[in-house]
Amino acid sequence: MRVTNLWKKNERPTISFEFFPPRSEKDAGKFEKVIDDLAKLNPDFVSVTFGAGGSSREGSYQLVNKLINEKGLDVIAYLAGYGLNPDEIISVLDSYQGLGVETILALRGDPPRANEGFTPHPQSMRHASDLLEFMGERYDFCMGAAGHPEGHPEAESKEKDLEYLKLKVTNGAEFIIANFVYDTRFFFDFVERCRAIDIKVPILPGVMPIYSVKLLEILTKTCGATITEEIHQGLARLPTDDNKAVAEFGIDFATQQCRELIEKGVPGIHIYTMDRGKATTEIVQRLRSEGLL
Ligand SMILES: Cc1cc2nc3c(=O)[nH]c(=O)nc-3n(C[C@H](O)[C@H](O)[C@H](O)COP(=O)(O)OP(=O)(O)OC[C@H]3O[C@@H](n4cnc5c(N)ncnc54)[C@H](O)[C@@H]3O)c2cc1C
Repeated sequence: MRVTNLWKKNERPTISFEFFPPRSEKDAGKFEKVIDDLAKLNPDFVSVTFGAGGSSREGSYQLVNKLINEKGLDVIAYLAGYGLNPDEIISVLDSYQGLGVETILALRGDPPRANEGFTPHPQSMRHASDLLEFMGERYDFCMGAAGHPEGHPEAESKEKDLEYLKLKVTNGAEFIIANFVYDTRFFFDFVERCRAIDIKVPILPGVMPIYSVKLLEILTKTCGATITEEIHQGLARLPTDDNKAVAEFGIDFATQQCRELIEKGVPGIHIYTMDRGKATTEIVQRLRSEGLL
């Protein structure tokens, strides 16, 4: 599946789910049920992450294989070029091509933290734009890139970040998947700024439900998403340490975000599932019951 073909039909917003390869056998057991539950929702496609430095290379391959060949799902495979040499990149891309993958999201990935300890290859791609150029010269994948509505944390400025996003499009990205935000205005503003500099490709919003306070804090710190006042106040009203109440709040909040996004005509909703099933299931069922998907 070349994902951009889905949006050309323009019938209704697509719904898609992001997965990462399970990190242990115990996780894999639980995850199998999550996949089956979410597959029942008939997503338009699912996506599989890739650890920078190749840390999840085999796991990503196995998961892509399972989702395509056992579960019959359409898959976008991610590739984080950071830390891999060109031969390794070719080998990953060949293996995905062998599975019938037609769409790749090209990413830089994040350099290792001190305790992760891989040494990046000296020839590894410095930026996603380099990876896109490299892939475009050798393959016929439908290629996409990541966008950062609030600006990438390392970016010199939001404007510069957008210039580099435009370079990714010039180098072959046919669509953009946006990082999550908790205030949809950041997303709409981002789309507007993209259009103003002639980035015309579809921009798919990513939605990250709040799964727990701890995860919220970790994830927002990593990617720089703003935790809004509404979230601070909403969480403060909940009983301390009531994880169930936090998860319910997260579902309500994410569903409302999806409504706002869909009402303003986004091409689809891409949910960062964190390999969990309940929140995504609830959100999709609510949106469908309202006729929004
Ligand atoms: C939808 C989505 C999926 C993701 N999936 C994964 C995953 O599977 N695995 C993973 O490891 N990470 C993943 N990430 C995280 C991502 O790898 C990090 O956000 C990373 O820090 C940046 O990736 P990028 O592709 O946007 O990098 P780039 O586009 O290379 O940008 C990184 C930084 O460099 C700057 N820059 C960009 N191009 C240039 C250039 N040509 N010259 C100079 N500066 C430049 C940008 O302004 C930015 O500050 C994902 C992020 C998103 C939004």
